[in-house]
Amino acid sequence: MVSAAPDRLRIAVQKSGRLAEASLGLLRRAGLAFRASRDHLFLYGENLPIDVLLVRDDDIPGLLVEGSCELGIVGRNVLVEQRLAGAGAPAPQELLPLGFGGCRLSIAIPQSGAIAQTSDLDGLRIATSYPALLADWLARSGLKAEVVVLNGSVEIAPRLGKAEAICDLVSSGATLAANQLRELVTVFDSQAVLASSPREPTAAKAVQIERLRARIAGALSGDGARLVLLQAPRAALPDITRLLPSRDLPSVLSLDGRPDDIAVQALCSAALDWQHLEELKRLGARSLMVLNVERMLA
Ligand code: ATP
Ligand code: ZN
Repeated sequence: MVSAAPDRLRIAVQKSGRLAEASLGLLRRAGLAFRASRDHLFLYGENLPIDVLLVRDDDIPGLLVEGSCELGIVGRNVLVEQRLAGAGAPAPQELLPLGFGGCRLSIAIPQSGAIAQTSDLDGLRIATSYPALLADWLARSGLKAEVVVLNGSVEIAPRLGKAEAICDLVSSGATLAANQLRELVTVFDSQAVLASSPREPTAAKAVQIERLRARIAGALSGDGARLVLLQAPRAALPDITRLLPSRDLPSVLSLDGRPDDIAVQALCSAALDWQHLEELKRLGARSLMVLNVERMLA
């Protein structure tokens, strides 16, 4: 492993898997450019003092705890599982949800069987790779079930007679259906998050961390953002404002020599379809323009 450079930030990212591509894509959209090391375990930041370590997702919380990396991109399910299993030991903090890798940890049961509701789980065996999250949910729900820990192929546990139910990550539900299972209850909602080391960073690194966090937040909020420009009668402003899916109040500018008219500039969180534009036009809007937003920094 490359030795830690004291002034360079390190961010751990999944090497291959469901989060790998989106994690690097996000860092690139936040303005980072990389050069790969020969062994492809390390990406050297070319334009900022930030390097990327490519690892298994399960290793990311540990790397943060031991201080080998200041930041990581990991599923909240992995982060919280290890925090609960660590029982009060220093644990990484979630800095920012990232909006991809969405999934839920759910209890699923055979499609044909005697289990109909969560209370039926009492006294049964539930197979999972997330024993701490499951135990936490069972305790909060006042249920007593035996947690059977499996590290993979959890979905076949009922057919193998190892458990009556499973607790596993679900996104579309296709894997459950393929194994004649159905979802009974969600135990935990997850998505990829930016996480930070529990160790206090140096003052210089704290500045870098905050800078990268703000850039990533900017890259995320720029996703799908549109700038809407239009002119309208001043009297129509309240109705127009109501129609715009904007984050903040729009900027309103007066027009030279036309006291009854205004120009409106609004940052919107979603695309405006034709119907939207036609309604704005009915309210008296003219010179309507919808522009993609390339970059944003709050
Ligand atoms: P690694 O080799 O890095 O250990 P892995 O096989 O443990 O990879 P992946 O299957 O790539 O992990 O999943 C990584 C993360 O993607 C999960 O921890 C979870 O946060 C998220 N995820 C999103 N949808 C799903 C899904 N349907 N099943 C499993 N994980 C999902
Ligand atoms: Zn993993």
